[in-house]
Amino acid sequence: MKKLSEIPAPSAASVAAVDVTAVSRLDLATPRTPVSLPHQAPDAETLVPELLKSYPPQVLRKRRRHIRVNDPDTIPEIEANVRTVPGIITQRGCCYAGCKGVVLGPVTDIVHIVHGPVGCSYYAWMTRRNQADVPEGAQNFLNYAFTTDMTEHEIIFGGEQKLAQAIREAYDLFHPKAIAVFSTCPVGLIGDDVHAVATQMRKELGINVFGFSCEGYKGVSQSAGHHIANNGLFKHVVGTEELPAELRENPFRVNLLGEYNIGGDAFELERVFARCGIELVATFSGNAQYSELAHAQDANLNLIMCHRSINYMAEMMETKYGIPWVKVNFIGAESTAKSLRKIARYFDDPALTARIEAVIAEEMAAVEPIRSSIRPRVAGRPVMLWVGGSRAHHYQSLFGDLEMPVVAAGYEFAHRDDYEGSTVLGSITIDADSRNIEELDVAPDPEAYRPRKSVTDVAELALNGLKVGEYEGMMPEMAKGAMVVDDISHVELERLIEAYHPALVCSGIKDKYVIEKMGVPCKQLHNYDYGGPYAGFRGAINFYKEIDRMVNAKVWNLIAPPWAATSGSATSAH
Ligand code: SF4
Repeated sequence: MKKLSEIPAPSAASVAAVDVTAVSRLDLATPRTPVSLPHQAPDAETLVPELLKSYPPQVLRKRRRHIRVNDPDTIPEIEANVRTVPGIITQRGCCYAGCKGVVLGPVTDIVHIVHGPVGCSYYAWMTRRNQADVPEGAQNFLNYAFTTDMTEHEIIFGGEQKLAQAIREAYDLFHPKAIAVFSTCPVGLIGDDVHAVATQMRKELGINVFGFSCEGYKGVSQSAGHHIANNGLFKHVVGTEELPAELRENPFRVNLLGEYNIGGDAFELERVFARCGIELVATFSGNAQYSELAHAQDANLNLIMCHRSINYMAEMMETKYGIPWVKVNFIGAESTAKSLRKIARYFDDPALTARIEAVIAEEMAAVEPIRSSIRPRVAGRPVMLWVGGSRAHHYQSLFGDLEMPVVAAGYEFAHRDDYEGSTVLGSITIDADSRNIEELDVAPDPEAYRPRKSVTDVAELALNGLKVGEYEGMMPEMAKGAMVVDDISHVELERLIEAYHPALVCSGIKDKYVIEKMGVPCKQLHNYDYGGPYAGFRGAINFYKEIDRMVNAKVWNLIAPPWAATSGSATSAH
């Protein structure tokens, strides 16, 4: 049960000690200086041909456009969000995984019915370790997997009746507030109309039932599913309920977008926000309940964590309700402090600013001794990050706290702006795969539109170092000469490990064990393996300890990869 009211505020002495004027002069706009590459790091330019040498010429030309050597002063253009070359082993997931598995799945009290074969349902069932801490008496369906279990019969004769029956059955058993239906590949191929079934069942049952056309093959990756999920939530959920009166009292009301409570990250952020006196209206969608999303239109600021999966929601809420958004990063202690200061600067309230600074001071006092004891054991050890559409960027900051250089990084499903920053948005070519995803026609709501900041306010905030509605990509915060690879393939990853000998690779389950067989520890950042939380101040402490344990474990020197006996190509990280 959430007990945020029991979380202590900072002490009065800490609040009184804050010099608010000095805080207002802190620089929040400049990207963090990256940790320089180790002197012995190989020259990335000469490595590029090595990475690509096994490909036929046409594939080589395509993959070359996804590989760049970073220069934070002149950000190079990189190709992203295009189809993976068939035959290449990619880390990407499908559109349905992005819609159900990432964005909607963590909402605790919606019954999520997967319309498709049982395998698709299993694929998105609890695999991201989204956690929940629901109030007493509230519903929580996170542990369930609901599926229509489509078989040959439905593929031939259609599955709409079976879907309607599944919705009725779920309603009779659980009486949820809402039911969401997710389409998988076969549904799109045979043409079941999940939206018609949802409309029919909404009338029949009197609850919110809504469908998603998120067939796995749509788009080029899970990124398409994120967009479809944003559209569906915006159309069917946001704005359908009123904010409870007790939540209206606090003007510092925010939504946190793109935080999925993996390993308990959202719990830590709820704790920090409660300490700061910030009212968290809704998290999209970690540890979230349906009603929180339904009255999210009454927040006064949207904070975007994972930009790639949820920027559409922020943009649409700004247009319809007048809520501005600010990009934040709560991964890493220093990034958490900076993000909290962004909130303070946005609301521009001296009492809030003093309270936030007091929280930062108290929390950093707990972080610092641990960070300083671990840093000498890990500083300078090279790291690679191959994950997500924002995560590889966010985790650079955590490694920056420990002075560990990120020698190579990339995303699975990012778009160019996630690498280069929002300034390139106007120059991104929209191809047929992106056009396939519906763009909602959103206009200011005649009653609910209430611009929280005027154009002048936003310009003043920019002059004062707070960029509203803008974000830096990953590359401005990466070292000069670091390797950037979009949608990395397994062969490219293996060659990079052989060249850089990283002390640690952060990646996903598809490559984790290949990496570990090469004698390199791999931290999964999709679901944190069995660890977490890693967000916020306490999360940073957890991560520092875990990194220390992983990179300094002697066991990695003892591993001989299974292929070493035959090929003689054993690779050791140390
Ligand atoms: S690609 Fe299609 S069949 Fe595979 S999990 Fe995704 S929706 Fe299911």
